[in-house]
Amino acid sequence: MEVIFLGTGTSQGIPIIGSKHPVCLSENPKDKRLRVSVLVKWEGNNILIDCGPDFRMQMLSNPIENLDAILYTHEHNDHTAGLDDIRPFFFRQGDIPVFAHKRVLDSLRKRFEYIFTSTNKYPGAPGVIEHEIVNKPFYFNDLKITPIDYKHNRLQVFGFRLKDFAYLTDLKSIEEEEVQKLDGVKVLVVTALRIEPHHSHLNLEEALEFIERVKPERAYLTHISHLLGFHDEVQEQLPENVFVAFDNLEITI
Ligand SMILES: [Zn+2]
Repeated sequence: MEVIFLGTGTSQGIPIIGSKHPVCLSENPKDKRLRVSVLVKWEGNNILIDCGPDFRMQMLSNPIENLDAILYTHEHNDHTAGLDDIRPFFFRQGDIPVFAHKRVLDSLRKRFEYIFTSTNKYPGAPGVIEHEIVNKPFYFNDLKITPIDYKHNRLQVFGFRLKDFAYLTDLKSIEEEEVQKLDGVKVLVVTALRIEPHHSHLNLEEALEFIERVKPERAYLTHISHLLGFHDEVQEQLPENVFVAFDNLEITI
């Protein structure tokens, strides 16, 4: 299984438009972050987790020819705004399967009514196949996908475990029984928004405590704001098996 970090930035991305913050002005490509998303490549399938506003650019900077499924963590705009841009995949492949909590599907149906409608559909609109998920493992082809249920402030979010890989973005609090589902995971990806505490995301210290609890072989930090600091400086302070993710990083699990 291979995973490409398509985007690793928080909701405004880095740089923030018009910002003079040193991290926003950094010329290091590792400090430029599109909105969060990963692509999981497994046996010829390309499975996308979240489809945010930068989806089109992410598909252009990585040579991705087919899109086989989209898993949604939650309905916030930085995770969903790119759905219209699945059109090139739809034209080649037909309807694209999407997996999400009922609440998230309801939100997508409202915001992308022209995609979900079955009557008088505009000929150029993309199509999807809806799969409602609950907090129980499900299968895509033969791949077992286990939702991990947690809170982003008060909003319910699903993270996902796919074999030895787990992706938990926009995490603030989680019950012990959900943490147990991560037992034996080799690679854990988790939110680390910034240094200071935040109401809906783990900060760096909390993310490191969480990694210590899960004990994966390797962990990667994502959903990063400019207030976390420069990639290279933060990386130097981290334990040996913890990495600051960056856009277009590709890992093998
Ligand atoms: Zn987010």
